[in-house]
Amino acid sequence: MILYKGTEFKGKDGNDYVVDEVISVGTGQGDIYRVHNQRKEKFALKLFHTGNKKKLLAQIEKLIKRGQACEAFVMPIELVEVDGRIGYIMEYIGSEFISAAALFNGIEMDGRMVNLTWHEKIMLLAQIVDALIVLNDASLGIYDVKFDNLKIDLANLRVKILDTDTIVYTKDKSVVVGTVGFMPPLTHIGKEKPNEYNDVYAVAVLIYMTLLGAHPLDGKRRNFPCNENIDTYLFGTHPVYMFHPTDASNRPIPKDGFGRNQQQVIDKMRRYPAYFRKAMNATFVDGLYDGTKRTTLHDWLDILEQLYNDSFVCENCGEEYFLDGTEKVCGICGKEIVKPIFMECEKRIPLFNGLTIYCDDLWATTSHYEVFRVVETRYDGRYGLENLTYEQALLRLVDGKERRVDHGAQIPIFMDSEVEIENHKIKFI
Ligand SMILES: [Zn+2]
Repeated sequence: MILYKGTEFKGKDGNDYVVDEVISVGTGQGDIYRVHNQRKEKFALKLFHTGNKKKLLAQIEKLIKRGQACEAFVMPIELVEVDGRIGYIMEYIGSEFISAAALFNGIEMDGRMVNLTWHEKIMLLAQIVDALIVLNDASLGIYDVKFDNLKIDLANLRVKILDTDTIVYTKDKSVVVGTVGFMPPLTHIGKEKPNEYNDVYAVAVLIYMTLLGAHPLDGKRRNFPCNENIDTYLFGTHPVYMFHPTDASNRPIPKDGFGRNQQQVIDKMRRYPAYFRKAMNATFVDGLYDGTKRTTLHDWLDILEQLYNDSFVCENCGEEYFLDGTEKVCGICGKEIVKPIFMECEKRIPLFNGLTIYCDDLWATTSHYEVFRVVETRYDGRYGLENLTYEQALLRLVDGKERRVDHGAQIPIFMDSEVEIENHKIKFI
């Protein structure tokens, strides 16, 4: 039974609402509506049509009491009962948010699909991981992390996590098992209940699919003859990581004449840094059946940051490349690759004209203040650094000569020189 536009109802806290329109029908055991309150503020209503009423009430009440873990989560804010059915009011997510499937599929622009930029992908993934860390640190699990439960706002690079009514303490019984491909094989085949290591499995799948463009367990084996549902075979009963170190049976399918093409995965993985490949191995080889061995959310956040610091993009097509790579020509567009100069301290950062470099770009700190700006030097137009701090910087040349550089003055960039600022030594690579 769908509620009509104009249907009025009251929340358990006494607020009055009016139904505006149906947003979706039959998602997560219920329907979603756009509603408004007396002050014309927009909200969303989720109304369940199945499930144990008492249990649902207890679960939603608990979630409301617990509150919003961080801004990314769309949480229940008021219980409602309409026509004997249980539901809740939550934040309304406007049309500036699109499905996170865009991370994997790209977005349509002038009739063709365009990938999100490297910067957008990394920033959005980091936010997803960051939000889930808040849950994980509180021993909570959502157990249904997947593209369909995430919304992204590309203009502001924000993420919203939907369907948060599945959040439970990881020691408690889960209300859902997860979604095919995003749950570990043992959960898929019913041999292991969802536990504290399930969300991190789903996150690794999200990261892999977003950055490499395929599911980590969906390679050559999809073409094998098999007697069961092919998804059950690939993700449940016979899972093999594409880049398994010893089992080559599920490698990505190279470009062939049948329209199958995972060549992109092969090319990208070859370029990605060793620490990224190691983290994926930990999850999809060692941690395939053993959650304790999976790369943790905290580690993923560090890895995403490091990937960003170690990377630069092809100036022509935007494809990502890494500092340690030896490519001279872009594999995607064929244009010459111009590797920028990186500054290396505790962290690395690629230098571009006009870029402001903050302390937390260079070393581990919770502060965030300007240290340098990349400028063209006055005399010969070469790149230099303007000292934005109020301390002197020290330029040490390869022959051992030193020069002190005051606030506002410029340091020329010599590849073999060293710069010292606030007791941190910086090199150019
Ligand atoms: Zn290119």
